[in-house]
Amino acid sequence: MSSQDRYDLLIIGGGINGAGIARDAAGRGLKVLLVEQHDLASATSSASTKLIHGGLRYLEYFEFRLVAEALAEREALLAIAPHIIWPLEFVLPHESHLRPAWMIRAGLFLYDRLGHRAFGFGGRCSLRTSLPKSKSVRLAPEGYGAGLKPEFERGFSYFDCWVDDARLVVLNARSAAARGASILTRTRLVRAQRERDEWVATLDSPSGGEREVRAAAIVNAAGPWVKEVLDNELKIDIPAEVRLVKGSHIVVPRIHEKRHAFILQNPDRRVIFLIPYERHFTLVGTTDIPLFPEERRRRISPEEIAYLCAAASRYTAKPITPGDVVWSYTGVRPLYDDGSDDPSAVTRDYHLLLDDNGPPLLSVFGGKITTYRRLAEHALEKLGKRFPGGRAWTRTEPLPGGDFGGRSFDALFTDYCGRYPRLPALWLVRLLRRHGTLADAVLGDVRSVADLGEDFGGGLYERELRYLIANEWAREADDVLWRRTKCGLHMSAEQRSKVRETMAGVA
Ligand SMILES: Cc1cc2nc3c(=O)[nH]c(=O)nc-3n(C[C@H](O)[C@H](O)[C@H](O)COP(=O)(O)OP(=O)(O)OC[C@H]3O[C@@H](n4cnc5c(N)ncnc54)[C@H](O)[C@@H]3O)c2cc1C
Repeated sequence: MSSQDRYDLLIIGGGINGAGIARDAAGRGLKVLLVEQHDLASATSSASTKLIHGGLRYLEYFEFRLVAEALAEREALLAIAPHIIWPLEFVLPHESHLRPAWMIRAGLFLYDRLGHRAFGFGGRCSLRTSLPKSKSVRLAPEGYGAGLKPEFERGFSYFDCWVDDARLVVLNARSAAARGASILTRTRLVRAQRERDEWVATLDSPSGGEREVRAAAIVNAAGPWVKEVLDNELKIDIPAEVRLVKGSHIVVPRIHEKRHAFILQNPDRRVIFLIPYERHFTLVGTTDIPLFPEERRRRISPEEIAYLCAAASRYTAKPITPGDVVWSYTGVRPLYDDGSDDPSAVTRDYHLLLDDNGPPLLSVFGGKITTYRRLAEHALEKLGKRFPGGRAWTRTEPLPGGDFGGRSFDALFTDYCGRYPRLPALWLVRLLRRHGTLADAVLGDVRSVADLGEDFGGGLYERELRYLIANEWAREADDVLWRRTKCGLHMSAEQRSKVRETMAGVA
């Protein structure tokens, strides 16, 4: 076996946790190989509600550690990836019979306080978060009632952040690759066993053949497959179970023209979000449905669509019906099984289980998009005996395209409008939201729309498509239409087919 096939760390899974750990480890000087059986972010990490948030509702389950850590991360991530993460105001219409006003006020007070403390303790010695504090609002007079039934008169407003989840994964993978990591998509770990002080792993390569690699340690970040990989591919028994909880979202035409989102309470005590999405749409989600490991169905059911439509329509001026749904997606939460009966109450906190009976194996259970960076730091700490000496570094280092040099997104946009006056401003916004300061690398010598090559519709041009293939592991149409971009949502079926045809020959 050549030294090329020997690694310090083999990571199974190209979701946010695998990609985040790959980035952190590569930056500490480790030789990293990440294998992903499909596309990056093809599972749970592109199917989230797309919030970088403390999780207001977790306060009801006394998850104070998780909320404080997540709020600290909210600030850190906002600073290192301002192109794909931005503040979002949430409005909670008040319904006293569901939760009394004093309870919500107390919850928001605590949320604000935890945010401030978390930020202060996060190391910047500041007691101010960059986000406004929560407040009570009158809906109609203050413009917060748009789209809602007029009977909802009062409510509360607070801030969290929005994230392009799939791009967060890709940017972590790019950052890892820039620091020497090998990222292999469409590559499945078939089996691995310990041989003296190394792991010997067999990979299924995209061309069909098998390949053997060796690694000093393995991280199992297979998300919903974490237990399956332990049982079947690694044949290691560790005392932990994963709880699979399915969550679906629907996308409907935009219910109002304002920028804020709604967090809506339901009589079953769950909450759902209504979030402005891709300019023309509203994202509605999520459900919480327990799944058995064998039924890893990843499609929304008619019952889930009915549930989301009914829950939203309790509030919206115009009812939302299944006929309004233009797109939907479903993900499976790989939660750490804490024995709770209620799927909404199962802890969202993560657990890192280390098996060091020989070369180390670290398995990731649970977690959130929001806490991936801290999870990666903790993972490297847990592996510290095998890889001593590395220092945490990711908290302030911008992700690719996120180095705004102190400028706001608006200032960056103004700069690009000046430099590319012949490109449509609306398209430039979308491009900058996807690539940040790497937009220059996408555009190269482009000056006008004619230089962008074939127009596939939905804001996707040949120029960007080629860039995504060359730099972001895009191999199939869905990688581009639904993960590297959301252009698929803005295209007709014929336009999507054209992208499929164009990408058919990409190896
Ligand atoms: C409906 C829903 C809403 C959510 N909303 C939010 C939110 O708003 N904010 C938030 O912070 N979090 C949210 N989450 C949680 C968050 O999305 C997940 O915690 C996170 O995406 C899990 O990432 P992961 O890397 O562990 O798993 P995944 O993203 O599932 O990645 C695991 C990867 O491992 C790969 N894999 C499996 N087996 C193998 C193998 N043998 N070889 C190679 N590759 C393999 C899979 O293909 C997969 O891509 C939400 C989750 C859901 C389901």
